[in-house]
Parts: sequence; C-alpha cells; structure tokens
Amino acid sequence: MNTSNFNKFYTIYFIIFGVIISMVGASIGYLLDTHRLIERINSEAKIIAEYKINTMMKLEIESIDKTVQLIGTSKVANDFLMNQDIHLKQELNQMFLASVNANHKIMQIRILDKNGYELIRINNKKNKINMVKESELQDKSDREYFKIISAMDMASVWHSKIDLNVENGKVEVPCISTLRAGIPIFKDDEFIGIFIINFNINDLLISLSQSSFFENYIIDKDENYILHPNDKYSFNKYKKTNKPFDEDFPKGFDEEFLYSYSLDNILHNDDKAILVLKLKKEYHKDLFKQYLHTALFVLLVTIILSVFMGIYASRIPRKFHRALVKTQEKLEEFTAILNNYVITSKTKPDSTIIDVSLAFIESSGYSRDELIGQKMNIIKHPTQEKSLYKNLWETILSGKSWHGIIKNKKKNDEVYWLEQNIIPLYNNNNKIEYFVSIGIDVTSKKFIEEIAYIDTLTGIYNRRMFFKLAEEQIKLTKRYGSDLSFILIDIDHFKDVNDSFGHQAGDMVLKELTKLISDNIRESDIFGRYGGEEFILVCPQTKKEDTIKLAEKLRVAVESYQFKTVGKKTISLGVSSLGENDDIETLIKKADEALYVAKSEGRNKVVAD
Ligand code: GH3
Ligand code: MG
Ligand code: MG
Repeated sequence: MNTSNFNKFYTIYFIIFGVIISMVGASIGYLLDTHRLIERINSEAKIIAEYKINTMMKLEIESIDKTVQLIGTSKVANDFLMNQDIHLKQELNQMFLASVNANHKIMQIRILDKNGYELIRINNKKNKINMVKESELQDKSDREYFKIISAMDMASVWHSKIDLNVENGKVEVPCISTLRAGIPIFKDDEFIGIFIINFNINDLLISLSQSSFFENYIIDKDENYILHPNDKYSFNKYKKTNKPFDEDFPKGFDEEFLYSYSLDNILHNDDKAILVLKLKKEYHKDLFKQYLHTALFVLLVTIILSVFMGIYASRIPRKFHRALVKTQEKLEEFTAILNNYVITSKTKPDSTIIDVSLAFIESSGYSRDELIGQKMNIIKHPTQEKSLYKNLWETILSGKSWHGIIKNKKKNDEVYWLEQNIIPLYNNNNKIEYFVSIGIDVTSKKFIEEIAYIDTLTGIYNRRMFFKLAEEQIKLTKRYGSDLSFILIDIDHFKDVNDSFGHQAGDMVLKELTKLISDNIRESDIFGRYGGEEFILVCPQTKKEDTIKLAEKLRVAVESYQFKTVGKKTISLGVSSLGENDDIETLIKKADEALYVAKSEGRNKVVAD
C-alpha cells in the first residue's frame, strides 16, 4: 500500500468506525427515548383514566346516588306512600320541583307505589318543568326496572343501563344520554314503593370524552358504544348507526397504546361498561416521528462530527504507519545492502549451510543451490592452519562468538580471505540452534600485506622483509653466541636467458630456481630475493663449513637440474659468516665479495669469505 492509499485507508477506516458508533449511539438513544415515551404514555393514560373514573365519574354518580337516597329515604316520601294524603303529595311535589330546579340534570322524578303505579311524575323537558297530570300517570309494574328495584331487599341505589332518552317511542333529538337511578322504599322492612330519577349524563359523557392525547370510548359488555370519539357512533345501538367494533379494535384491546378500565365498580349496572383510552393516531405518529427526527438529527450531527474526528484521529496512525513504512523501506535497504555487500551465512551446529547472502555467493563463486545443504568446509582452503579451525570450533561450541581471519578457497580454487565474526544463536531450550557468520572480504588487504613482504614473482621474502628477518636473526645469534651464515646466489649468464628465450622464460627460470632451492634448505633458513637474478639465504645456527656444504649442495642441485625451457643453468655462490664485528651490511658485503671471486674464477662455484 502506498502512502496516499493508506492515508485514505486510515481516514475511511476511522470515518466508518465513527459512523458506526454514531449509528449505534443514535439507535440506542432512539430506543431509550421511545421506551421512555412509551412509559410516559402508559403512565399518562393511567393518570387520565384514574382521573376520569375515580374523580369525574365517581363524583357524578355519587352525587346522583346521594340525591336519590336523600329524597327516596325522606320521611315525606315514606309518609306519602303510606298515606297518599293531598298535603303530603303537595309537599313531595314541592320537594321534587325544588330538586329539579336545583339540578337541571334531573330529567324526570317519579315515585311509584308498591304495585308499580306512578303516583307523582315531574318532567324536565328542555328546561320546562312540569308535573304530569294524574290522568297521564301510568302503571309501570311490567317495567324491568320496577321488577328489579321492587325485588331489592335494601335501600340501596339501582342504576339503569346508560341509554338515550326516548320520547313517544323515538330517540329524542338532540340526544340525551340518560342514567336512571332508583331506590326501593321500605316502611318497617315492608316494601312500599320505589323512587326513581332520570339523570341527563350528557355533561359527564362529554367531559369523559375529552382528552388531548387519547380517544375515549365507553363500551358495554355487548361491544356497543356508549361513547365514541365520533359522536355519530355513541349509542350506536339506539341510533342504529352501524359501527363494527373490529374497525376500531381489530385486535381487541390487546394492543399497544390501548388502555381499558372497568367502570362497573362505579356504575354497578347491566352495561358492565369499560372505559377505553386509545392514543390518538396523529400523536402516535407525531411523537414517534419527532423522536425519529431527533435521532436522525443526532445521527447527522454525530456523523458529520465523526467525519472530522475520523480525519483528525486517523492522523496519528497515519503518521505511525508512514514512519513504519519508512523504517521498513530503510530496513529493506539495509537488508539489501547487507545481502549484497556483507558476506553472511547461517549454518546448523554441524556447519550445514542453511542460508547465505548474495555477497557470500559472489565471493565464493558457488551458486546458492551448490551451497545450501553443504558443510562449511566446501570453502575451506587446504593450507589454512588446522589450529585456527580447532580454536574456532572450541570457541563457538562453548557459546562464545569467534572473530578472526580465515583463508578460504573459491570454486575456481582461487584464494580469498574473510575476516569473520561467528555468533552462536540459541533456541528456547537454550541450545545452540544456528551459527551466524558475518564476514568481510579482506583478500585485497591480505594481498597488500603480502606484497609488502613477499616477492610477487617467486613468492619468497622480498628484499625488505629479508633484511628485517635477517636482522632479527643476527640479534638472536649474537645474544646466544651461536653461528649464522649468509649465502648470496647469482645465476650465471642470466642475461643470455632473457636474450635467447625472452623475459617470460627468464621469469620461469627464477620461479623454478626458487622452488629448487626452497626444497633443499631447512625450514629455519630464511630465503629471499635480493634483486634481479640474485637470491640470498640466511642460515641460522649454521657453521661456516656447513654453510659451504649447503652452498655446494645447492650448486650441484642447480647444475644437475633441467630447466623447463632453457635446459641447464648454473649458479655462483658467495658465503659469509657472522663475525664479532659484523652486521648485516658487512655480512652481505663479504658474501658479495666472495660471489665476485666465484664469478671471476669461472662461475658455477662456491667461494667463502
Ligand atoms: P653473470 O652474473 O654471470 O656475470 O652474468 P649475468 O648475465 O647473469 O649478469 P648481469 O648482471 O649482467 O645480468 C643480469 C640480468 O638479469 C639482467 C636482467 O635482464 C636480468 N634480470 C634481472 N631481474 C630479472 C627478472 O626478474 N626477470 C628476468 N627475466 N630477468 C631479470
Ligand atoms: Mg647478477
Ligand atoms: Mg648473473
């Protein structure tokens, strides 16, 4: 992923994150709000219903009952029923009229004798109060209410069903909802008649129907409407206005935001009516819409905020990521450099190669496949001293790291030198799992070092190194009082070789001679190229006679040697021995003088000082 991509990625990632949180937050808020709203509506409905039933209705019905009880149990009513005296009748009439005047909700007051015959009836029609003539009074003994009230054994108040006032067999218009309340009258436990009042309860029903949030219904046990929000359907049974119950209550009363309460404890009548409160549809919609709008608004604001916050917040990981990518790039760069320029290898403890760097491959001349799985000695140089390997393995197997310079061999047998750090790596069980070797090619350095003291053509010490070593030997010899001799060697007529066979053939002769002499001297002898076709040999702890013998041996060896291109060659040798006052210069001088003598005496000769 490039920089602009991960910038986008982090920004979008954080924005999405923010948006999801916003959505979850807004949804939870909405759910909580609506839950609270539902609870509020529920409790509101309860409060309203309680107020309507236990305050409005109860008070009204209690006042109706009181009125009925007061008059029904009055002495005048009692006396009149016992003795239908004209004075008593007038007195009762006055009382009835006064009651109607005082309470215009009273539409009719009647007193019936024990046989159900009306004795007094006062009508209140459209605020016209009149006393019904005696001739118009009727026998009501067959009426249901008379039968019920007359059968009651206590002076308790009976309520009729709530219905509409009917005049001459027709529902009176405008409709007057009516509740009849009656009471039996007893004289010494003997039933003597009933008293009954028709109440206009329009006002009660109107006040019951009013509420801003709810539609109010009063429904009787047969699912007829006594009260309906649409007045047309109130008393549908009497008005014959058909209103299927299912239309208003398709699921009965078992629905959200629908609350029903029994009115029977107050009405105690045959309606077995219930008051139903139903949350008005528009409120239902409006309230929830309002909350939804709030939630959407919150969502919008939080989304906008989360976009900005997302952009802002994503800066930090963006920054980190950028830094990480940079670090990674640098690391890759370094790894590439390491791989290309540092000779590294990873081996198992038994030196099996597991991994090698490109630089390793290049320096060794082998391919990766040729190296992996092989033992490290694939690059071991045969002349590398064994003691170095012994020391190396002892060190690393003991858990320490080893540092040193190793002579190695390329695939093409070329020598190369590595300065190496070999580090053991441990596994979890604290056992050596790998060796990692980090090396640098020091072949050039070694080469420079070598040419500083080695003659490049012959591979033996150059003049400078020879002088250094010879001086050390002279010092040692003088300290221990032993012997030391020099042999200066010069090839006879070497110029002819170059002239006849060329310079290269001359070089070959120099190399062959070097080998020939090296093979015939002791290890402790110091053999160097003095210059051109002259060689010098220091023989420590060698007496003059022995040195002469050695010189003679060398002379014979050369004389009898068949050089590759040029055939036979001879050498002349000058021998000098260390005397008390000698130093390197006098020794060389003496050897040179002896050599000069040998040359002048015909060459292929040994002359000592
Ligand atoms: P002599 O010592 O017997 O008197 O005769 P010479 O021919 O050996 O002596 P001279 O000193 O005249 O010649 C030495 C020659 O050795 C001169 C030079 O061309 C040759 N020479 C010196 N160094 C090298 C070298 O490294 N390679 C070759 N091919 N020739 C060399
Ligand atoms: Mg010479
Ligand atoms: Mg010579």
